[in-house]
This record gives sequence, structure tokens and C-alpha cells, in this order.
Amino acid sequence: MEYIPVSLPEMMEHREKRSKRTAELLSEYKSTVICMSMNFIGEYKVLKHSRLIFNIFCHKVLEAANIVFFEKKHSHCGDYAHFVSNGSPEYVKSKMRQIEESTEVGRLFDIDVFYEIENGMPIQVRRDEPRKCLLCDKSAVECARNRTHGIEAVREETTNIMRRYIASLISECAYNALISEVETTPKPGLVDKNNNGAHTDMNIRSFYASSLAIKPYYYEMAMQTFKGIDESMSTKALMQSLQVIGRTAEKAMFEATKGVNTQIGEIYTIGLLSCGAILALEKLTGFDTISQYAQQLALSIKTDNSPSFGARYEAENAFPNIMNAYKRIEALCNEFSFNEACVIALIETMLTVDDTNILRRGGDDGLNFMRQRAKQILDLKSISEILKATYEFDMQMIESNLSPGGCADILAASIFMLYIKQMLFAYEPENQI
Ligand SMILES: [Zn+2]
Repeated sequence: MEYIPVSLPEMMEHREKRSKRTAELLSEYKSTVICMSMNFIGEYKVLKHSRLIFNIFCHKVLEAANIVFFEKKHSHCGDYAHFVSNGSPEYVKSKMRQIEESTEVGRLFDIDVFYEIENGMPIQVRRDEPRKCLLCDKSAVECARNRTHGIEAVREETTNIMRRYIASLISECAYNALISEVETTPKPGLVDKNNNGAHTDMNIRSFYASSLAIKPYYYEMAMQTFKGIDESMSTKALMQSLQVIGRTAEKAMFEATKGVNTQIGEIYTIGLLSCGAILALEKLTGFDTISQYAQQLALSIKTDNSPSFGARYEAENAFPNIMNAYKRIEALCNEFSFNEACVIALIETMLTVDDTNILRRGGDDGLNFMRQRAKQILDLKSISEILKATYEFDMQMIESNLSPGGCADILAASIFMLYIKQMLFAYEPENQI
């Protein structure tokens, strides 16, 4: 991919085109018109990740302000989008201000709201205060005019703002996936909304607490991956630095649960996949390569005694069961509610995976019992029968003191894959700039 510098005449023409379109929409709809663009200092108006973030912001605007018309243009002179809203200019402006201020990356956006044309020129609702500079407390215009910081410093901060935003979205997806997993109900033998499963030392609140405690470390791992790319770290060196963050996350988890292991497997697996997602975004190789990058990280510290099942097996083999379960949830969502899709995907996982927790607690007999019941449930015809049988299965697992924690980890990670696909990989790769 190539980023193309923009000349001043090109930029002027681009701005004029944008403004002309705003005027056209104002006269056509006689309603409030929003024009959104990103604002970068220097000759490059599209930067790495900017198009992705631009697309995400288009969605935010679409959801925020009674939009009746939307179009977006990708251009090396700068991406921009127009929206027409039914809302009053003041209402729309306040919504746009909320979007700009809801996250640090909003500072890179100009979201202008127009309400009429005067002498052929669109008139916009004024901003309250001039934009602040990215690097100091003065106004952006002042620092730009005086060239206070130099283009390199501003560009570096711009990149960092976008990276922090992406890392925060990834940790958000990780956290939401952990919550969605524990809230999936009913789950045989596992902690869910109905009961604590075959556990006496944890409940759903332990999971809420530990999910919150480990959330910041997914952000840390994502940022560390950006750093590893900048510093051309070897895969092994990057992995070792991630392990340090992972161990801190484990400590935070044990503190939050007063010593109970709720989610160690998910720190490892979702952590690896988070870093795989950063690598796929940075190298523009697409969603399907995430599991391969994460696998390379896992393999970089592979030892001779690699297991034939469990979280490390899954990672060293490019997450076969997780990728399978994520695709199943995605497909099942066409027919069932999200919770039902997750319950079915979990039962399917229980049918095929050698769950280490089951083997530890119940041996081969436990595993065989679980598979037999899973098979019976999947043979049922209707979703109401499946849910009822799963609830009974839950009671049997509790009685037998069996909990498929490995399958729960796979469920959480597969939900995570679905969430990041929807959040970060729903758009064309940025290869046509
Ligand atoms: Zn400044």
C-alpha cells in the first residue's frame, strides 16, 4: 500500500468539492447537513488506520442523529462523509460534540453541522471554542501558524492517538466477550446467570470482577504489539514481553477474586488473539490472518513437551476450535438469539474438545459422559427442547462435579473473534488509497 502526498492545489479543489456537495444537500433536503472529515497536518491526509477509524465514526454518526441520507468518499486528499438529519441544527451539533468528545481520537475529526446557504455558501453552527493543539494547551490554529512543534512531532502524536483508540477498542471487545461468555445461560457445569455450576469458590460476580480487573492488560498487550512492530522486535522477544504483561494480569485477576482462578486461560488466549488483531491491522492482511499471527507468537516459545489439548494446543495449532466456534456462532445468529447461538456453539464444542478441566475432575468417564449428553442435546429438534435439556444437563454436571472450563475459554475467545470482526474488520482493507 502506498500513501500519496497531497499538493496545495489538490487540497483546495478537494475542499471546494466537499463544500459544493454540502450546499447541494442543503438545497435538496432543506434540513440539517453534517460534513465529517479527519484533520491531519502535513501533506498526507490519509494515514495508517485513519480510514478504519473514519468508518467507525461514520457508524457513530449514523446511530446518533436521525440520519435520513448518508454518503462517504474515500480520497487520498482526505476521507469525508455527508449526512442529512431530521434533527434541529442545535440538537445535531450537540450530538456531534458528544461523539467528538467521547474519545481522544475525536480530536482528529471535524464534524461540521450546516443549516442554510447564504450566497451559495453553506453556513454552519459555530463551535464553542477553538480546537486545542494535540501537543500543548494552546489553540491548534496558533501552534500551526507558528509551527511550534514540527510536523514529525504532530504526526507521531496523531499516530499514537489512533493506536491508543484501536487498543482501547480491542480491550473493550475482550471485556465484552468475557461478560457475554459468563452471561450465556444455561451452561452445563459452568458459572452462569442461573447458578455457580460445579463451583463452590466462584459465582457470576467473581467473573464480573475479574473481567474488569484484566481488561486494562488487553490494552497493554495491544500497545506492546505496536511497540514491537516499531522496534522490529523478533516474534519471540515480543511474546516474552507479552508474557510479562500476562503475569501482571494474572495477579490482578487473583486479587479481584481473592485467589480464585476464573480466567487465566482467557488472559492467554484472548491476549494472543488481541495481539494477532493488531498485527493483522498493522500489516493490512485482514481478519483471516489474526489466528496465524497469534499462532506464531505461541510457537515462538514452544517447548518440547507441547500438550495435545488445552489452551496451548489451541494456540500452537492456530486456534482450530475457536475459529470453528466463532463461525458457528456467526451462522447460528441468523436463526437464533445471540444467547441461544452461544449455548449451541458451547454444546458443540463440548462434543469435540478434550477439555482438560473435565479430564482432571472426571477422567475419561467424565469426558465420555459429557460427550454423550452433548450429542443427545444436539440431536433435538427445537431450540426450546435444547434449552430445557441443557438446563437438565447443567444439573447433572453439577451433581457429578464436572465443569468444562476449557470449553468456556473457547466460547469466550470465539465471541471475542466475532466482536473484533464486527468492530475492526467490517471494512475493506485499506489498500486502495
Ligand atoms: Zn501546541
